Formats: sequence, C-alpha cells, structure tokens
Amino acid sequence: MYNPKSKKAEEFIDNQEVLETLDYAEKNKNNLELIDKILEKAELGKGLTHREASVLLACENEEKNKKIYELAQKIKEDYYGNRIVLFAPLYLSNYCVNGCVYCPYHAKNTHIPRKKMTQEEIKEEVIALQDMGHKRLAIETGEDPVNNPIEYVLESLKTIYSIHHKNGAIRRANVNIAATTVENYRKLKEAGIGTYILFQETYDKVRYENLHPTGPKHNYAYHTEAMDRAMTGGIDDVGLGVLFGLSTYKYEFAALLMHAQHLEAVFGVGPHTISVPRIKKADDIDPSTFENGIDDDTFAKIVACIRIAVPYTGMIISTRESKQCRERVLKLGISQISGGSKTSVGGYAHPEDESEEDTAQFDVSDRRTLDEVIKWLMELGYVPSFCTACYREGRVGDRFMEICKDQQIHNFCHPNAIMTLKEYLEDYASDETKKVGEALIEKELQTLQNKKVECIVEENLEKIENGERDFRF
Ligand code: SF4
Ligand code: SF4
Repeated sequence: MYNPKSKKAEEFIDNQEVLETLDYAEKNKNNLELIDKILEKAELGKGLTHREASVLLACENEEKNKKIYELAQKIKEDYYGNRIVLFAPLYLSNYCVNGCVYCPYHAKNTHIPRKKMTQEEIKEEVIALQDMGHKRLAIETGEDPVNNPIEYVLESLKTIYSIHHKNGAIRRANVNIAATTVENYRKLKEAGIGTYILFQETYDKVRYENLHPTGPKHNYAYHTEAMDRAMTGGIDDVGLGVLFGLSTYKYEFAALLMHAQHLEAVFGVGPHTISVPRIKKADDIDPSTFENGIDDDTFAKIVACIRIAVPYTGMIISTRESKQCRERVLKLGISQISGGSKTSVGGYAHPEDESEEDTAQFDVSDRRTLDEVIKWLMELGYVPSFCTACYREGRVGDRFMEICKDQQIHNFCHPNAIMTLKEYLEDYASDETKKVGEALIEKELQTLQNKKVECIVEENLEKIENGERDFRF
C-alpha cells in the first residue's frame, strides 16, 4: 500500500502506485484541460505531485510542451537567477565489492587497475583542484568495508578540509558513498560534510535486484531507505538521483518524485539536490546493451519536468554530458555543474599518467578545463558561482528550504556568486576569462536590488583585489 509517511521502501516507493501513475499519465497525456490545470498549479511555483508531473512528462501536445519548457525556464530564473554553481568530483578509491552491471568498478572486473589514494596523494589531488579554482567537491568511493571503511572516508575529509594552498580552500565537501548505518551518517555529519548524495540507480525493485546481483548493494530496501537513516543521523541535506537508462524513464521519474515527497512527509524537508546522470560508456560497459537509454529530447523534457515539480531542489549535471547537451538543459533547470572533472582515482594531480585514466568510472564527454567552462558560462550570460555560504552559515535542511520557498535565497546567492567569481578571476582565471568576468561583474552589480548590499559587495570586491578572501552573506 502506498504510504509516503512509511519508513519502508516498498511502501513509500510502492510499485503499484508507480504503475497506476504511469497508467494515469498515459490516459491523460492528451487531456488538454487537465494539462492546463496542472500548469496553472505549477505556475504558483510550489511544486507538483508525482501524478501531476507524470502527466506533463507524458504530454504529447506540442503547444502544451512549449508551455512546459517556458514554465521550467521561468521557475529556473525565479529561483536560481542566472547563477550556476560549480563543483568537481574527487574519487578516493575504486575498490568495490558490489556487482553493479553498469559500472566498471564492479568486483568481477579484474583488469581495471584498483587504486586507493593515501592521505599524501589526496593532498596532492586537493592542491591540484584548488589550483584550478574549485571550492566545492563531491567525494566518491566504491563500497568496500576493508579498503574503504568509514574511518578512511573520515580521515580523508579531515585531510581535504585542512589543505589551504595559496588562496585555495575546499569549503564544502559533499559525500557520495554507499548506503550505511545511522551511526556512520552521524560520523559524517560530525566530520562536516555538505550534502550526502546517494543515487538510487533504479527505483524498479526487480530491475534493481537484477542489476545488482551481488554485494551489499543488492538489498533494495537497505539502499532505498538510506536517506531516512542519513537524516536520522543528523545529515540535513541529502541528494537523490537515478541513472537514466536502467529502467524506463517514466517509472524512474515518478518514483524519484515519490522519494522526494516521502522525505518531505517524514522529515519536513525534501531533497537538497537531484542529479540526472545518464548511463555512459566505460571500461567494460557498453550503454547500448541497456534498452532504456534516452535521447537528448527526452532528457531535456525530464529536466524541465523535475524543475517544475520540485522548484526549490537544486539540479545537478556532470561532465558525462556534452557541452551542447549541458547548454540546453542549463536553461531548463540545472543549477549546479561539474567542470574540469576527472572520474579516475588520482586524475587531477597526474593527468598525464595513463594508468590513472584506466581507473575512470565513466567516459567524460565534456573535457574542457574549468577555465574554459567558466568563460563559456559567462558568455552564455550565466554567473559562475563558487559559493558555499549556506552550509557554513548554518542555512541547511529545513532552514534552507524555508528561505528557498520564500524566494529569499536570491538575496544571498547573487552577491555571493559575484564575490566568489571575483576570487576566481583574481586567483585562477586566464587573461581572457578575467576580461569577460570583470565586465560581467560590472553588469551584475547593477542588478543587486538592495543598495546596502551593493555597497558591501563593492567594498568586498575591492578587498578581494587587495588580497583578502572568503566574504559571504
Ligand atoms: Fe561499486 Fe558504486 Fe560502481 Fe556499484 S556503482 S560497482 S557500488 S562503485
Ligand atoms: Fe548555494 Fe546558499 Fe550560496 Fe545560494 S547562498 S549559492 S543556496 S550556498
């Protein structure tokens, strides 16, 4: 029985409810009256239920689809303005005991080199990332209680936060590790992590069990209930995601929103972020063997419908996607992207070393440097942001959502984006990028509505030019 408040995975992601939702959406995909009603509700910017959003996703009417894209764009602008937050993944270890059939780190892959970084190697990686300009990381490891125990992750976090190379600092480390116990989530919280991210991969239980034939990850309920344990352990911000291509996208979409509603119903706060990866080629993985792959148009529609359904949840896209694809979905709802990423263990400090590349989790489509990504974003009219202020100011969990739902977050995000961009321009940008950035900052200053804030930002920009760092609202 579907029950969003239940703590049991099979009840808050009730298979029957997902199937009935898909049936409802299919029957109503050309019901223009209903679609108009849903769009009217969506315009209020308070989100939609999984059923309503599924009707929009299924909608085949060209005119209504145009409205869906326009509305997604408007909500994106209302909540996130023209800012895009930047981050980079950092792979600590690719040892893994699981058997996920879509990932080259699966335990049976015997020819991929296995690597676990020492603290000294992590230090080198973090320095390389800081020298690129990154301030926000997503820490990744495979699941392996012997090689990657929680103590290793905690020690690595300490190392990561302790390094201050030149003007560099990692100010927020999000963590993407396997589902674990409440006690371990508590330890991660104490270690000062930002968001705890865990991709569901697929919500379809039968598919899930087939795609995870061996290892602890085989347990669907334990994996699906991980966010409940994380929040019980005190983690305020959690990040959901599915790997599109493993099951039908309509199923994943409805279930993903049911998961978000479950967190809201139980903890009073929905997911902080949603990631939208698509299955990609990697070492011994051929994406064409998965029959549920989605094309770019479908991908764009999914992004637009998620944006409309959960306006205050950040949406993340990685360098798995090409420049063209990223450009298209930035408009429709993406608020965070990675840049200059390496998906191998040790790939930042030693990019020239081919054996590092062999340890990659997936092929990167967007191989541009961070500087190129920053310049590209600015030329498209976006303000690249390295802001990490909320987490450091305690604006997390329900406190964050409250500010977000009131659309007050702009007052923090925009000045912070300008100041952190200025830091980037001063410390890391090429001359050309700096020129584009300085002009953009001039323009963006005019858009600050509060005169007092504008004065403070102008003062701080001057201080940044004179070598001071780390200003925030
Ligand atoms: Fe291991 Fe994660 Fe890859 Fe599965 S997806 S094999 S758990 S690293
Ligand atoms: Fe994110 Fe908060 Fe910074 Fe806005 S002010 S960009 S929500 S950390």
